[in-house]
Amino acid sequence: MYSSGVIIDFHTHIFPPQVRDERDEYIRRDATFAEMYADPKTKLATSEDLLEQMDAAEVGASVAVGFAWTDDELNVRHNDYLLDEAAKSDGRIVPFCTVNPAHDSAAEEAIRVARAGAKGLGELRPDSQGWSLTGEAGKELANVAKRENLILLFHVTEPVGRDYAGKQGGALTDFAEFATTHQEIPIVGAHLAGGLPFYAPMPEVRETFDHLYVDTAAQRLLYDHTAYEHLIGLIGAERILLGSDYPLVPQSLQIEELRSGVFRSSDLDLILGANAQRLLGL
Ligand SMILES: [Zn+2]
Repeated sequence: MYSSGVIIDFHTHIFPPQVRDERDEYIRRDATFAEMYADPKTKLATSEDLLEQMDAAEVGASVAVGFAWTDDELNVRHNDYLLDEAAKSDGRIVPFCTVNPAHDSAAEEAIRVARAGAKGLGELRPDSQGWSLTGEAGKELANVAKRENLILLFHVTEPVGRDYAGKQGGALTDFAEFATTHQEIPIVGAHLAGGLPFYAPMPEVRETFDHLYVDTAAQRLLYDHTAYEHLIGLIGAERILLGSDYPLVPQSLQIEELRSGVFRSSDLDLILGANAQRLLGL
């Protein structure tokens, strides 16, 4: 039983109740949202749902990430919800907001949310939102993140393996180039960073893991349980963050996967909470 510290889930999704209640309207307005949430069986969780889940799974704090809407007006509304719910949560919800760097309004919104309490920006999906991580928009995003002390959390797509709704949207090659270029910003690659750690024996990739972290969001849907020990050998437990991708994967299930897949309790402590605590400055 993990008891050394607080459990922190670095990757959960919550939506304003309005998005859940008027799902069809948002399906019309955003192609990526439609791809991922058109099926009415795909759950849209609110902050109440998340807090209930955290109580059940004994999670102390969760990073709640926004959705990478293409229309920046939807990002602003979603950001307001994340910031309000975080403010009411007594530190249990840590807000990561979203912007669309394809629009000029992105930098201003990033500054606004940073000053209102956002710890980072995410889950960003450059290709879904129509901007390039390796172009001008990526450079500006890096600048604002550095100035405002924001962590950047990206969806990263595995270039191999089966297809699934929401897989595309963050090309691994662009992500790797961005991470190599911007060593000064803490970056989190979701879903084991699309498999980037498996290239870590390449010195130039290994180097990026000085400031780069991976989260385990949806790992159990992508890799088998041997992935964790391979990962620890490749990049070290210090670079791995518990992420469930709740409500896609229940938090208790993701925690259980880690408890059975990670052999050393010192590694498990880092992954379940200590790394996130240090990174978020909690
Ligand atoms: Zn993702």
